[in-house]
Amino acid sequence: AKEKKQHPKASGFKALFDANLVKKDFPILQERINGRPLIWLDNAATTQKPRQVIDRISYFYQHENSNIHRAAHELAARATDAYEAAREKVRAFLNAGSTNEIVFVRGATEAINLVAKSWGDQHLSAGDEIIVSNLEHHANIVPWQQLAARKGLKLRVIPVDDDGQILLDEYAKLLNPKTKLVTFTQVSNALGTVTPAKKIIELAHQAGAKTLLDGAQSVSHLRVDLQALDADFFVFSGHKVFGPTGIGVLYGKEDLLNETQPWQGGGNMIKDVTFEHTQFHQAPSRFEAGTGNIADAVGLGAAIDYVNRLGIDNINQYEHYLLLYATNLLKDVPGLRLVGTAPDKASVLSFTLKGFTNDEVGQALNKEGIAVRTGHHCAQPILRRFGLESTVRPSLAFYNTCEDIDTLVESLYKLKRNK
Ligand code: PLP
Repeated sequence: AKEKKQHPKASGFKALFDANLVKKDFPILQERINGRPLIWLDNAATTQKPRQVIDRISYFYQHENSNIHRAAHELAARATDAYEAAREKVRAFLNAGSTNEIVFVRGATEAINLVAKSWGDQHLSAGDEIIVSNLEHHANIVPWQQLAARKGLKLRVIPVDDDGQILLDEYAKLLNPKTKLVTFTQVSNALGTVTPAKKIIELAHQAGAKTLLDGAQSVSHLRVDLQALDADFFVFSGHKVFGPTGIGVLYGKEDLLNETQPWQGGGNMIKDVTFEHTQFHQAPSRFEAGTGNIADAVGLGAAIDYVNRLGIDNINQYEHYLLLYATNLLKDVPGLRLVGTAPDKASVLSFTLKGFTNDEVGQALNKEGIAVRTGHHCAQPILRRFGLESTVRPSLAFYNTCEDIDTLVESLYKLKRNK
């Protein structure tokens, strides 16, 4: 039977917030699934929303709703103020230099496509090279493949070692004068690996290449300091950081955004239009054509406030212990193979269980009220690197507890006993 090992509390760890109290802020975490309390361990797919975010969106529609910028009435001013305040919250959260560098988009996928279609089409030409890592989500592979096909570019791939860590020496060998972009994830959604982003960016810049950092899986787990990282572009999705779906962010250095042609045309993004010629606004407006997702941008601002109240460093520390606790228990389950064993990891515990398909494991856990993702996690190349087509993937957030992990592990033992 299972033994408790290195319990964070037993090892002297004291979280600076009470995850059980935090859980109460999330109405959906009070749901019962198959008669059991819901244990949400599918945070890498999407995170749940605190009441503060839900209430903020509701408040917007009850008291502030208007289109932004256009009209000279009270509600237009309220909506504009709320939207621009959210932009400032994002700027501060990422430590970007200016709100002009924060473009609201639908999510990480749209942000990457925006860069590929605008900056990529404008600046890259036949023979140029783009480097991605083996860890990438399909969202950071496919748009570059499409661009490569349009332009005659070459896509090169940074390999990883058996723990799922970037091989920096191999990366350095791929860089050459034809390299125009290095685009990679800060945290792998399939393995949890935290990549050495600062070093990768530094080497890219030495080679004269631009960089895009995919923060979809990092912003909810670790402090992102864009001025320290020096990434040229950075993307994330609101729904993975306790905010609403349908809103996300593209960060780009101000000069770079302003020298890049817009990808969509329409209202809001222009300074002047005649039938002969259109003058575009500077960033960020030049990339925000049409009416955007105003309410959900405001909701994202509330999600950032929530994360800030707990403190991203406190969250990081707590989740680190939780991950260690879970790893130690899972390692002891006979027949369980953990995939992704880098020392520097965040949130993700990808595994297979001998004698069971991943779907069988996922369904058995669902019967116990536990939600995990099974499948390829939109990252087929990295799973195939480990000879796999899919895994079971519990992934953690700050509202998860050691008790959630105990229930997960007990459910796996129960599944094995009942075989
Ligand atoms: N990049 C990574 C690393 C991800 O994990 C995801 C989503 O799982 C994405 C990009 C795409 O995010 P979205 O589907 O919210 O656009």
